[in-house]
Amino acid sequence: MNKDIERVLYSVEDIQNAAKRIGNQLAEDYADKTPILLSVLKGAILWSVDVMREMDSYVELDFIDVSSYHGGVESAGEITLRTDLTTDVAGRDIIILEDIVDTGRTLKYMIELLHKRGAASVKVASLLDKKEGRVVDVAVDYVGFDVPKAFVVGYGLDYKELYRNLPYVGILKPKIYSEEDS
Ligand code: 5GP
Repeated sequence: MNKDIERVLYSVEDIQNAAKRIGNQLAEDYADKTPILLSVLKGAILWSVDVMREMDSYVELDFIDVSSYHGGVESAGEITLRTDLTTDVAGRDIIILEDIVDTGRTLKYMIELLHKRGAASVKVASLLDKKEGRVVDVAVDYVGFDVPKAFVVGYGLDYKELYRNLPYVGILKPKIYSEEDS
């Protein structure tokens, strides 16, 4: 285990099982459609790859980079669209693949953007749902795990751009924040 990690919350196996469960469910729910899987950069890349390869059905893939964090552990509140998707979403079914939903602001921004552009439907499949952190009212349709209100890293999730490569999700040792933020 990485020396900066205090505790593993979701193991490689836990995550693979969740990806399989949600991938299979999505394939079933969208069996007669060709949805666009919209992977939210950078945090959702591993989740997107693992979920999509469990889907034995027709899908397209696109990316969006929306940011509300600025490298630390607190949400900044303001959303920035850094990289837009390239597909015309009018009339299309969209499945947003997120790493984690906390306040819900990022998700709300994306859902509104997609509806404004005429998407036929927008659903959300998130690896983690931090329900206690919710500030705006948004629903996550497919949830990997309900996560407690702690700051987690690994499996795509970062702290100051590090730890995305870890194959599990864990909690950082508190000394990592205090050293870096002081
Ligand atoms: P929201 O807009 O829902 O507050 O935040 C969503 C984004 O904040 C996520 O896509 C993720 O990038 C970041 N985020 C929220 N909670 C955590 C966390 O516990 N760990 C990490 N690494 N990022 C988080």
